[in-house]
Amino acid sequence: MAEYSAFALLKNALSGNTDWKPAWRKAAPKPSYDVIIVGGGGHGLSTAYYLAKEHGITNVAVLEKGYLGSGNVGRNTTIVRSNYLLPDSIRFYEHSMKLWENLSHDLNYNVMFSQRGVLNLAHTPAQADDYIRRGNAMRHQGGDAEWLSAAEIGRRVPGLDVSAKARFPVVGGLLQPRAGTARHDAVAWGYARGADRRGVDLIEHCEVTGFLREGDRIVGVVTNRGEIRARKVGVAVAGSTGRVMKLAGIDKLPIESHVLQAFVSESIKPFVDSVVTFGAGHLYMSQSDKGGLVFGGGLDEYNTYAQRGNLPLVEEVMSEICAMFPAIGRLRLLRSWGGVMDMSMDGSPIITKGPLPGMYLNSGWCYGGFKATPASGWAFAWTIARDEPHAINAAYTLDRFNRGVLIDEKGQGSTPKLH
Ligand SMILES: Cc1cc2nc3c(=O)[nH]c(=O)nc-3n(C[C@H](O)[C@H](O)[C@H](O)COP(=O)(O)OP(=O)(O)OC[C@H]3O[C@@H](n4cnc5c(N)ncnc54)[C@H](O)[C@@H]3O)c2cc1C
Repeated sequence: MAEYSAFALLKNALSGNTDWKPAWRKAAPKPSYDVIIVGGGGHGLSTAYYLAKEHGITNVAVLEKGYLGSGNVGRNTTIVRSNYLLPDSIRFYEHSMKLWENLSHDLNYNVMFSQRGVLNLAHTPAQADDYIRRGNAMRHQGGDAEWLSAAEIGRRVPGLDVSAKARFPVVGGLLQPRAGTARHDAVAWGYARGADRRGVDLIEHCEVTGFLREGDRIVGVVTNRGEIRARKVGVAVAGSTGRVMKLAGIDKLPIESHVLQAFVSESIKPFVDSVVTFGAGHLYMSQSDKGGLVFGGGLDEYNTYAQRGNLPLVEEVMSEICAMFPAIGRLRLLRSWGGVMDMSMDGSPIITKGPLPGMYLNSGWCYGGFKATPASGWAFAWTIARDEPHAINAAYTLDRFNRGVLIDEKGQGSTPKLH
């Protein structure tokens, strides 16, 4: 498969763009593999890519029940950040940030990673203290964080109401300059192409409907395209974790599935050039390269596997965006959709060997798994290849919920609303 390059662009432009080859093969399942990854989302694809690239394991299949990128990886609001408080989280998400910073070159695929900064607005002095503490923790661990005054924020984000008469006055904000956005489906396609080039079979429309077992050990999967055996089976199915793990007889997990909605407005001229989050409710917003404002809020607050949400949350998010940016009150909403989130009970992920022999689990991404895509795949590949975690995912075990060793960023205790 040809390298993407300026020369290739020119050559194909001159030949009417008729010579581009498909970015990956349409592989058919083989009877057996060294490793099967269930789920062709961002995390499954990046795992396959790093298994091949970092560990030389290429006899790998990724099984996806729909088409690649049809899940949350193609449905999110594309925010990439590493602005965490706890050491385990900062270490993991900083590793991810570093992979993001070289990802387009590594994959030879433009994932449009844009380090436009993520600004968390604070609306009370207590919230300001909390954010400054987080910023200091980030800097202590080698990350980047800056505190901005309300006046500086006003200059940086002209559409934002930072006046004293704003419904929720802004007292300042925590900026992570290296954070930003990336083109979500390009991330799936880039990892898919990279894995395929190294020999991984990407098998679409192949739903896992059961697991093959020898005693306790998982030795393969049952699919709608037949049985496939494997020495190791990794599960990375995000919001479907509960359903898929149940097929292996695991019916109790510290995960709940919830719907999260996203919204896009009609396109307007450049209006906001960083990601801005509202601190008096739950809202995050950026502007896409096409000009649409992309934004989202909290969960719909009921358990579901449906990829569509309901109107009360739409109303809440719209009222928040109008409070923040009164100037866009008459903008029309163009599209909205939902994705099913794998909410863990401490808001942190699980990347682990087990819970059965021959099986490996990657889950609990809550609202924040897109930014984790590179590090998640990198660490999951390490865990599968070496049968032990890397230092960056050593804390992300499943049994931490039994042991009471939660990685609880918000300090709120167990609840499925964290991220
Ligand atoms: C509206 C919304 C906004 C978000 N915003 C952000 C954000 O701004 N920043 C951020 O970091 N994160 C965000 N997220 C979260 C992020 O998208 C997810 O945490 C992350 O994408 C989950 O990992 P994934 O990409 O592997 O999941 P998915 O893309 O969902 O992949 C899982 C795949 O498994 C497949 N599958 C399921 N069951 C089976 C089966 N039985 N057999 C075979 N395949 C199966 C599914 O079809 C799916 O393709 C957002 C999510 C949503 C929905």
